[in-house]
Amino acid sequence: MKIAFIGLGNMGAPMATNLIKAGFEVHVFDLVEEALKALEAEGATVGRSALEITDGADVVVSMLPAGRHVRGLYLGTDSLGTDSEPGLFSRLSSGPLIIDASTISPDDARVVGAAATEHGLRYLDAPVSGGIGGAQAGTLTFIVGGVAEDFESARPVLEAMGKNIFHAGSVGSGQVAKICNNMLLGILMSGTAEALALGVRNGMDPAVLSEIMKQSSGGNWALNVYNPWPGVMEGSAASRDYRGGFLTDLMIKDLGLAWQLALESGAPVPMGSEARNLFMQHSAQGNGKLDFSSIQWFYRAGMES
Ligand code: NAD
Repeated sequence: MKIAFIGLGNMGAPMATNLIKAGFEVHVFDLVEEALKALEAEGATVGRSALEITDGADVVVSMLPAGRHVRGLYLGTDSLGTDSEPGLFSRLSSGPLIIDASTISPDDARVVGAAATEHGLRYLDAPVSGGIGGAQAGTLTFIVGGVAEDFESARPVLEAMGKNIFHAGSVGSGQVAKICNNMLLGILMSGTAEALALGVRNGMDPAVLSEIMKQSSGGNWALNVYNPWPGVMEGSAASRDYRGGFLTDLMIKDLGLAWQLALESGAPVPMGSEARNLFMQHSAQGNGKLDFSSIQWFYRAGMES
């Protein structure tokens, strides 16, 4: 099976590498030359354009930063109101299954999905959870929206990159579920940081307090496996000065998608909005490129005492 992989960034590069390891014939394209060279060294065939690698492919996987990149690639740059470079959908002579693993708005996914159908192509939105570590280990969670039959066709490809593969519903549902999950994660991480700072400010050892809350009703993923207080958990981003991991600015992007979705659907999200405000203020203080658990520093008065 020939797979075309577009977007070899922090996530895409290890995902494409895992497809090669699983024995697929992988052809890659990215705008960055170094990214192409790195994947060539892993055994990929490098193309000079997205069209060159996708035409004739059985499956196309894209892993791009945001909705405008996905629309630009598939629908053409005229969909962005810039110039009139035609998109892939109108130029493909074959009919690959398209799997977009980028995190984008459900609306963008539905627009791209509808255009794919118009061109006789099958399209799945398949955002992931699990971060760069999960991408490297091949243990990502895929949350997929699209037709059940297409989901089953994609399964062997997704299983080469992930461990938990969910069918969320129709096109766009993968993005809705992913956005809900990450909004909850943002709320849980900021709440965990707030509780730890309150306890430490009142004389608690952060490790002792963490252990008590883990075994009590405050236990949650952010506290249990991603503790934001430095030194409490070996191997955590907090214990390596918040370097690497899931960036504050990416959490802001996802909380922005949640906010947009809430606005469009009239859903109240006061906690999600508050979390977005907190992470935005934190980023404005120069912490956008640190792991999102560095929100602990927002409560630095507690950390310094
Ligand atoms: P990244 O910025 O590291 O990589 C994106 C890559 O896409 C870059 O190499 C860029 O050159 C390439 N690109 C952009 N436009 C292109 C085009 N038209 N043609 C070819 N290549 C193009 O981003 P990332 O961290 O790999 O994230 C990718 C997606 O995954 C995002 O939507 C992000 O929200 C989501 N995500 C990221 C994480 C994470 O921890 N980094 C976790 C889950 C989901």
